[in-house]
Amino acid sequence: MSETVTKPAVLILLGPPGAGKGTQARKLEQKFGLVQLSTGDLLRAAVAAGTDAGKAAKAAMDAGGLVSDEIVLAILRDRMAEPDTRNGVILDGFPRTTGQAAALDSLLADQGMGIGAAISLDVDDAAMVERVSGRYTCANCGEGYHDRFKTPAVDGVCDACGSTEFKRRADDNAETVSARLEAYHAETAPLIAYYEGQGVLKRVDAMGEIGRIADDLAAIVEAAAS
Ligand code: AMP
Repeated sequence: MSETVTKPAVLILLGPPGAGKGTQARKLEQKFGLVQLSTGDLLRAAVAAGTDAGKAAKAAMDAGGLVSDEIVLAILRDRMAEPDTRNGVILDGFPRTTGQAAALDSLLADQGMGIGAAISLDVDDAAMVERVSGRYTCANCGEGYHDRFKTPAVDGVCDACGSTEFKRRADDNAETVSARLEAYHAETAPLIAYYEGQGVLKRVDAMGEIGRIADDLAAIVEAAAS
């Protein structure tokens, strides 16, 4: 059952690829009834659908670089205009540049919403390439797995929904992950100071056990909503 968050809250999950943003956003979505909004998922859907934005984004995504602010902001604005976002969202993978952060501030001001917390998932860079290179998800329900760290209880069958179809992201390979980590440090890590300056930054040690990290995040969300 989901708990009610009293104020429309926008939560931002910051962290490099492999930090667990998607996994933790899914948990917060279930627990608090917030909507997970991943610009990576929206861009992958645009690429798969062959839209103009998807065609323009594909090369940067394949290389592990960032898609232009213009394209990402257009996709984000469209998604934020949908009514299900009015009770609060968890932004996973957005903002990734200071330009995106400033644009988000004005978008939220227009909508009468504010940032409840920007949570930095702190991890060791060295572990991230291995984490990301081995990960895959259930094609049906999105449950996450890893070749070494989390395999299904029954080989080839999703623990959560029983599906036998799994998928891997095209950009989850060692070379692209290194480029994505570089992009994170050059473009996105400065947002930690940006949100610290706004007084909304929280930090979570994201190297440990998934359940403990989820508890730490839930405590932050509860505090931000009270
Ligand atoms: P993710 O699923 O968040 O790891 O994103 C996958 C890829 O999509 C990234 O490596 C970028 O190429 C692109 N992407 C996702 N979100 C953004 C964003 N906010 N700004 C620029 N590029 C993005």
